[in-house]
Amino acid sequence: MNNQIYDLIIIGAGPAGMTSAIYAARAGLNVLMLDRGAPGGQMLNTYEIENYTGFEKITGQELSERMFNHTQTLGVKYRYGDVQSIKDEDKIKVVQTDEAVYKGLAVIIATGTVNRRLGVPGEDELAGRGVSWCAVCDGAFFRDRDVVVIGGGNSALEESLYLANFCRKVTIIHRRQSFRADLIVQERVKKNPKIGFELNAVVTRFNKVNNRLGSVTVKNVLTDEEKELPCDGAFIYVGQDPVTDMFKDLIQLNEQGYIIVNDKQETNVKGIFAAGDVCAKELRQILTATSDGAIAAQNAIKYIETIKEQ
Ligand code: FAD
Ligand code: NAP
Repeated sequence: MNNQIYDLIIIGAGPAGMTSAIYAARAGLNVLMLDRGAPGGQMLNTYEIENYTGFEKITGQELSERMFNHTQTLGVKYRYGDVQSIKDEDKIKVVQTDEAVYKGLAVIIATGTVNRRLGVPGEDELAGRGVSWCAVCDGAFFRDRDVVVIGGGNSALEESLYLANFCRKVTIIHRRQSFRADLIVQERVKKNPKIGFELNAVVTRFNKVNNRLGSVTVKNVLTDEEKELPCDGAFIYVGQDPVTDMFKDLIQLNEQGYIIVNDKQETNVKGIFAAGDVCAKELRQILTATSDGAIAAQNAIKYIETIKEQ
């Protein structure tokens, strides 16, 4: 066990965690930021971002690097670690990762969300063999090939546009007639000659051909008719689930597993704050994640000052 006590431990280096780190480090705190992946979070799974103030267009990779470099110029300590639990020992919070134990006066949870699975036959078996949750990571394998994208939100439609840059054909499979994505994105998708639609349809099975994905079976939800759609790749964008399972015995969650916070980003445990997509809230965006991160840090700073005065 490392005996050092950090002022603040931040779990997750997405936009929420990195912004918290910047605010806390600028206030002179000794900050440790942990992540089980590369810094950037869901931004790394995004090709282009067009709605982060000040950047008409920036790749997810570049924005991740800029935010991370900003934390590093301020001296934030960054360590790999897959956090398994937090123990509340009153004034000290003990954070257990898969490899180490860290102590801090306060903690900010910014663990975000993970991509949801469809839960249909063939999905797990063909993951990495045609079935993917990340067009930016895997799209290039499908140059001049036919792919399907499942979902009707911003992720599904934006990533379809990205895939249409180099795939032969992109078919969006959505369970309803209308999309929930932003109108501007819907219009771009509808104008793209490479993008087609299977609406009011759900995927019921991913089918294997030569040990890889060869087709998907889709069912029309209005007629119950099933058909096979040949494809080389399938990208699943059917929403996100919060990463909170390891905190559920300590932190109050809502029915969907999101962390309940007040307007100071405080959780039910004194000295433990939460920020970003992991929180129960209305709008999950990079901008709102950074905003939560700033508010969480500001209130963590005040909390740490009172602890140090005692
Ligand atoms: P995340 O970005 O999810 O970061 C959480 C971090 O926590 C991750 O790095 C993860 O590895 C880490 N973590 C999780 N569990 C643990 C653990 N146990 N231990 C240690 N570390 C852990 N928003 C926009 O504003 N514009 C866009 O164009 C846009 N495009 C998007 C495209 C896609 C495909 C997706 C899925 C989302 C998109 N979003 C976009 C939404 C945006 O990415 C999120 O709202 C934002 O990244 C949330 O930030 P966050 O810091 O709360 O969480
Ligand atoms: P989302 O907005 O929750 O959309 C998920 C889509 O998948 C919905 O269209 C939903 O259908 C469909 N779906 C859900 N479960 C399904 C199932 N079991 N079978 C078939 N379809 C299913 O998720 P998202 O698009 O990943 O976005 C996640 C968050 O990130 C959102 O808050 C979004 O605003 C944000 N984001 C923002 C941007 C941006 O700002 N440019 C880009 C990407 C993501 P229904 O519509 O019928 O519910």
